[in-house]
Amino acid sequence: MRQAAGDTAAVPDQDKGLMKLFLLFISALILGLGASQSHALELESTLVHLTYENESQLRKFSRKMEPGGLFYLFGGDSTQSLDKDVAAKLDLIVRKVQKILDMYPENFKCEVVLLETTGQVQQAYQELYGTKVGFVAFYSPGKHRIYLALNKLELAVFAHEMAHAVIHKYFRNAPPVKIHEVLAQYVTNQMENSN
Ligand SMILES: [Zn+2]
Repeated sequence: MRQAAGDTAAVPDQDKGLMKLFLLFISALILGLGASQSHALELESTLVHLTYENESQLRKFSRKMEPGGLFYLFGGDSTQSLDKDVAAKLDLIVRKVQKILDMYPENFKCEVVLLETTGQVQQAYQELYGTKVGFVAFYSPGKHRIYLALNKLELAVFAHEMAHAVIHKYFRNAPPVKIHEVLAQYVTNQMENSN
């Protein structure tokens, strides 16, 4: 009888074990989904498709894209929603970059990914290209996507990467890397001088 009692007691234990495994499996699934959705928030402007993790990032981004030179256009107006404010700034900056370069590629739309730290930007670069770099931001021509780190973000940095995107889309045959860089740097200088 003891033995039998022991045996019957062992069954629920085993069930508990299975249940634990099952719960672990479910929570791993949920965590997995959570991780893949960490960039679920999106904002669509005319020229940019922006993805970010949370509203505080968007707020930070909006503040950093508000230099003296462009600010008068917004008049310090805070009546419009954060989304509209950011969308307007994004398009304004892209148009300014295009004007500086005098390059207006047709149907231009660039993806922009907001990340929190330069470490995350460098990790994204490593995942794409397999090499370690010290970049604070970069443009991937293959994905036509800009990666930005909020902790080191300046308007000129964003404009520089956007210049790479515009140049990439403008030329049917890509110019040499050095020319690409010189042109993008020219945009950086123009943006810095206009502020
Ligand atoms: Zn560059």
